[in-house]
Order: sequence, then C-alpha cells, then structure tokens
Amino acid sequence: MPAVCLCRSDQWGDWRWQLRSRLRTKEQLGAIIDLTPEEEHALSHPCFVVGITPYFASLMDRADPNCPIRRQVIPLAAEALGQGVTMADPLNEDGLSPVPRLIHRYPDRVVILATETCHTYCRHCTRRRRVGMAERGLTRAELEGVTAYIANHPEIRDVLISGGDPLTLANCQLERILARIRAIPHVEIVRIGTRAPVTNPYRITPDLTAMLRKYHPLWINLQFNHPKEITEESARACTALVDAGIPLGNQTVLLRGINDSTTVQKQLVHELLKLRIRPYYLYQCDLAEGIDHFRTPVARGIEIIENLRGHTSGLAVPTFVIDAPGGGGKIPVSPQYVVSQTPEKVVLRTYEGKIVEYPEPRL
Ligand SMILES: *Cc1c(COP(=O)(O)O)cnc(C)c1O
Repeated sequence: MPAVCLCRSDQWGDWRWQLRSRLRTKEQLGAIIDLTPEEEHALSHPCFVVGITPYFASLMDRADPNCPIRRQVIPLAAEALGQGVTMADPLNEDGLSPVPRLIHRYPDRVVILATETCHTYCRHCTRRRRVGMAERGLTRAELEGVTAYIANHPEIRDVLISGGDPLTLANCQLERILARIRAIPHVEIVRIGTRAPVTNPYRITPDLTAMLRKYHPLWINLQFNHPKEITEESARACTALVDAGIPLGNQTVLLRGINDSTTVQKQLVHELLKLRIRPYYLYQCDLAEGIDHFRTPVARGIEIIENLRGHTSGLAVPTFVIDAPGGGGKIPVSPQYVVSQTPEKVVLRTYEGKIVEYPEPRL
C-alpha cells in the first residue's frame, strides 16, 4: 500500500475510496502528523486495530497531541494496560446473544451486529474485543438466524442495526437486512447506529437516502463527541438524512481529556441542535479493556448535566447513562433535585439552587 498522503485525491469525495484508503500504519500517520514517541510505540503494537479515513485524519491537528480528534483515533501505550476492573466484554453482550450477531438485553428490542468493520476505529470502542478484528459482515446464514429469532419473538418491536458500522456495508447488503427486518409484521421501528456522518460523511449519498426512506419509520443514532467533528461535510450528511425524514439522535461518550467539560459539551449540543440532531445519551465510559485511560469520575457527568439543565434548551440536554457492568442495561444517572419527600410535600431544588416546596394532593 502506498503511503497515503492527504493531498486531495480526485476520489476524495468517494466514500469507498475513503474506506479503502484508511490510514493504518505508523508510516502513513507519521507522514501527516508529528507523532509523539508514545504514539509511535503504540502504533507498533501488533494487537491494536488502527484505521482512519483520510477525511477524519484531515481533522487531526498536526502538532497538538491533545487534539480531540487525534486522541479518539491514535492509540496510546495505555491501551495495553489491563487494569483490574476492566473486562473484554463489560456488558456481557456475548452472554445475551441467543443467536450469533444478535443481542437481546431488553424485553422489546434487540441489537443486530451487522458487520465488524468501521470507517474509522475509535480507541474508546466498547466492542473492541471483536470490532475491526475480522472485518466480516453478516453471512447469509447469520441473517437467516437473526430474522428467524426476531420473527419468533412477537414482543420485539424495535430493532437496532449496529456493529461495527452498518454504513460500511454496500447499499444492497444493508437493504437485504432492512428488507428482511421490515417484512416482520411486529417490528414497529428500525434504528441504525452509525458514525458515518462523523468519520466518512461522503457515505451519505442520494442513493443511500433514497434506499433508506423505503424502510420508514427509521431512526438513526450518531456519535459526535466533539464540536471539531462538525464540519461542512458532516453537516451536509446530517441534513441529507433529516431531509429524508430520518430523525437523528446523538450518543456521546464522555472521554477524559477530550470532551469532559461543560464548555465543550455545551458547544457540542448547541451545534447538534442547529443540525436538527437531538442529543440522546451521554455515556459514562464502559469498563472495556484498554480504555481505562478515557474514564472520568461519574461526578463529572452529573456536573455536566447539572450545568446544562435549565441553563439551556431542554432539547439540548442528553440523558447521562451508565451501561451496567455485567449487562443490566443503561441506568440514567441524574443530578439530585428532590431534597426531601413526605406524603404532604416534596421539597425541590431549582436549577439555580433555590429551594421550593410542592404540596402533594390530598388523597
Ligand atoms: C443501548 C441498547 C439498546 C437500546 O437502548 P435504548 O435505551 O432503547 O436506546 C438495546 N439493546 C442493547 C443491547 C443496547 O445496548
């Protein structure tokens, strides 16, 4: 593979070229940014899966090792540390998988793992135990198994297509999955989880949106983690999706040194709303092996929510959640506004810290 430079290829705007040309080695990355000795060392590690689209790489700061884009995609030596509390499969997804490629944790909804490929591999990936390893899509037999399971479980009304990034699949491969799921009468909504608008916005083509809109009601959840990820290209991609009638949500991962401040989060959620993207979840970093250095104290997430709620549009405030270690599901963690509660009254705290009383109804 030639050392990819960021001199803009005439294929720059072709999503397949972006995917094919992902930067994967120390040599390729060293040609475009000033790698620190620690980054060089980590890029030599045989087990770290690295892959960055030229587009996303072009957002990295050449000189600043703390660049929030760079820290999401260039490994550090700390990834090799197995800390005592971390786990390969922190959410017990493998244990909650009744058939290969399907996770059934909640009563009425399931996740399909459509592929193990991503446009760009995030260092903070919670599924890093498998994502990027084989870069394998769902086989025909696996799709049969997954569809049969959903068809045989009438309680499943919501199907999430995740991965890897399902938008690394070709339109016809993705459509094969969507068509099979949509043909099941009790499936009410379908959701796709993707970072394509963030890491490979050229993926959102008129052909794709024309195909997707045949499968409504369809929702898409994205993962913007930092305002620097909002560019003309990513904005155009999101606008095309919303204009195709697809509501967009955003799931941010709280990452130490990258976005763990109110200033960054506030700027991010305001930018998202301008693009008609609803901030949905703010995730406490999972206990996956190799991502311990991204973890923040839980109090930081609570503080960020407290600094948003009331201070800005309610639409801008995501729900801060901890995905329960061991697979219990997402748990909302909120600042405490109830000061005390008796049968007569509830004492509350306003966002500005004033104490108010709400009398309970007489029963
Ligand atoms: C996050 C998740 C869902 C969806 O949860 P919502 O709160 O409905 O968005 C479903 N299944 C699994 C396994 C999940 O991790």
